[in-house]
Amino acid sequence: MLAGKTAIVTGSTSGIGQGIARALAQDGANLVINGFGDPRQIESDCAELRASCGIETFYHGADLTQADQIEALVAATRERFGGVDILVNNAGVQHVAPIAEFPPEKWDLIIGLNLTAAFHTTRLCVPLMRAAGWGRIINLASAHALVASPFKSAYVAAKHGIAGLTKVVALEVAEENITCNAICPGYVWTPLVEGQVADTAQARGISEDEVKRDVLLAAQPTKQFVTIEQIGEFARFLCSAGGASMTGTITPLDGGWTAQ
Ligand code: NAD
Repeated sequence: MLAGKTAIVTGSTSGIGQGIARALAQDGANLVINGFGDPRQIESDCAELRASCGIETFYHGADLTQADQIEALVAATRERFGGVDILVNNAGVQHVAPIAEFPPEKWDLIIGLNLTAAFHTTRLCVPLMRAAGWGRIINLASAHALVASPFKSAYVAAKHGIAGLTKVVALEVAEENITCNAICPGYVWTPLVEGQVADTAQARGISEDEVKRDVLLAAQPTKQFVTIEQIGEFARFLCSAGGASMTGTITPLDGGWTAQ
């Protein structure tokens, strides 16, 4: 279904990005894998995708907090595959601390990676999609694009920001066969969530088990983590013919969290 198309999935060496990359590869898209990690593991993951899905893929280690490295990522993709048809803005980090103690450098990192990087990738990829007459932009927002939680000032600000960016881009490209949507997962068990359990326990003065039960899953009426595979399936739908009229949406995949 996506044979001959090229997808950049940022932050696809781990977690949700890795799941979305796999789902798109299963539909035949060629992939550009990005993110940090052990080079040997990344190369072995790329080789496995090539072998199991019959696609082409290469890894680009751009640090997406740096605009010049984002330009290099898009240029390398264009050189190798001739364009970019699908852009998944997924790379993100989190930091949990009360506002008065929130480290300014963490604020800058989170806004830089979770929001500004998507501006740069989008501004660079839209002309390529326009030239091809087809494009799909998928932004990994969060339930925190719709509601807030304490101690997550930068993350909630960035995610509300990317919801706004999604709507603006969708309107600008609406007549050009390019869609732009935001997926808003609830809690998904990935290294990003695992890494915030200890900080949340400290900020709230509770145990790590209590964080999982009373903070994370308490938010989700289903009482289950959202899975990486579920998000991959939804991304796949957005890239399918059935998703062609879906644009400018900020869609929760959150086990009912934001219905409350
Ligand atoms: P993760 O930590 O498993 O993966 C993050 C990815 O981003 C990794 O590949 C990492 O190497 C990459 N990355 C980090 N810094 C980078 C940088 N400077 N440049 C390039 N790549 C960089 O996280 P995840 O849970 O899979 O989260 C992915 C996205 O989904 C994030 O935007 C996150 O905010 C969002 N999200 C996650 C959850 C959740 O519960 N896990 C919920 C809602 C939204």
